Amino acid sequence: MTEPTKILLDESEMPTQWYNIIPDLPSPPPPPLHPGTHEPIGPDDLAPLFPMALIEQEVTGESHVDIPGEVLDVYRLWRPSPLYRAHRLEKLLDTPARIYYKYEGVSPAGSHKPNTSVPQAYYNNAQGVKKLTTETGAGQWGSALAFATAQYGMECEVWQVRASYDQKPYRKTMMEVWGASVHPSPSDLTEAGRAMLARDPDSPGSLGIAISEAVEAAVGDPDTKYALGSVLNHVLLHQTIIGEEALLQLAKVGETPDLLVGCTGGGSNFGGLSFPFLREKMAGRMNPTIRCVEPAACPSLTKGEYRYDFGDTMGMTPLVKMHTLGHDFIPDPIHAGGLRYHGMSPLVSHIYEEGLVEAESIHQNECFDAAIAFAKTEGIVPAPEPTHAIAAAIREAHRAKESGEETVILTALCGHGHFDLKSYEAYLAGELVDYDYPEEKVRAAMENVPVIA
Ligand SMILES: *Cc1c(COP(=O)(O)O)cnc(C)c1O
Repeated sequence: MTEPTKILLDESEMPTQWYNIIPDLPSPPPPPLHPGTHEPIGPDDLAPLFPMALIEQEVTGESHVDIPGEVLDVYRLWRPSPLYRAHRLEKLLDTPARIYYKYEGVSPAGSHKPNTSVPQAYYNNAQGVKKLTTETGAGQWGSALAFATAQYGMECEVWQVRASYDQKPYRKTMMEVWGASVHPSPSDLTEAGRAMLARDPDSPGSLGIAISEAVEAAVGDPDTKYALGSVLNHVLLHQTIIGEEALLQLAKVGETPDLLVGCTGGGSNFGGLSFPFLREKMAGRMNPTIRCVEPAACPSLTKGEYRYDFGDTMGMTPLVKMHTLGHDFIPDPIHAGGLRYHGMSPLVSHIYEEGLVEAESIHQNECFDAAIAFAKTEGIVPAPEPTHAIAAAIREAHRAKESGEETVILTALCGHGHFDLKSYEAYLAGELVDYDYPEEKVRAAMENVPVIA
């Protein structure tokens, strides 16, 4: 029998619970703090931004959380997602490694983001919320939330980072098709945006600024709440369906991974894939190395400091302990818009500090070299973000070739690049800049990070 290329689950095999890793960790992550008092925050502090069901998930001590039936109904539009064996890429690389990738680009928005936008819209709608605001970088999160709010007849308003708004115009149209309204950020619609424009009228924007704008718009309106596409515990919780499915799929072909690699912007696709495997590892049932991959231009884990900082540029969000490059650090305009975030999920940061996962950073051109090799063999044109994971997988496949080891590599191909072709155009024209770690800019930004005793 030939070895399968796609390992599929039946709809009836789709997991019905999300996995919360926190109770299984050696210690819990440090609590978020109030931005004014620096005291740990309670549920009431988050209530203007999020519905109570999501706040409960943010702090839950339960290991497993049931996925509501109405969310499973929407998930079934594209889940379970396929796990692929990259036979043709392996052949090109002439490696004894076996490479598997879990493909999340089959969702309506083209990435893993609907795994959390759907439950977020569901719980907000159940609490009577009429409208959600959010930020988006490359546009993947904005489209995922626009799709999810359309499922529940809600309104959606999106602030899209200016650099991406200009690079990827069709993402905006896609969000509008699903009924959302979209503004470039910084915009003149909020105080935060106007303050940024006063400082720099040509600001390329950042996720931190766009978050400030979306949060400001939500807190001013009792029928409106805010939705975040990454970073928070409940977002990573929702994404664990990726890893739960992948565990079942690898079991079908009798494989256990030696290495998991995932790209990390805010940590949600990485956490979603890896946490169920980390559970298995901590229980002694497998022993994979688990590695985060980030852009050299925005390397929060490998170069950032682990300390309390704001999630947004204007300092409106709670303070969270994470690896940060400084909340007002504005990364160079690399094409992986979803990886241009100054911080990291507090949960991934904590797990990294505990030594349970590793991290490395890679430059843009190596990532696109890898993406081209991948597209020519496997066919799928990856989003710029997961090109980092593919590049890391290829590095490992080369190592396996040297050592002769049959390393089993698992990665998340967390989105397709059909709206990111400008980046491929620039790469093919030889115009892609390998932005280095911007040490001076980070040093300046770190001076504005609050000092917490
Ligand atoms: C949003 C996004 C990312 C970055 O976010 P994470 O929370 O780190 O997953 C990466 N890849 C794609 C395709 C995205 O849409």
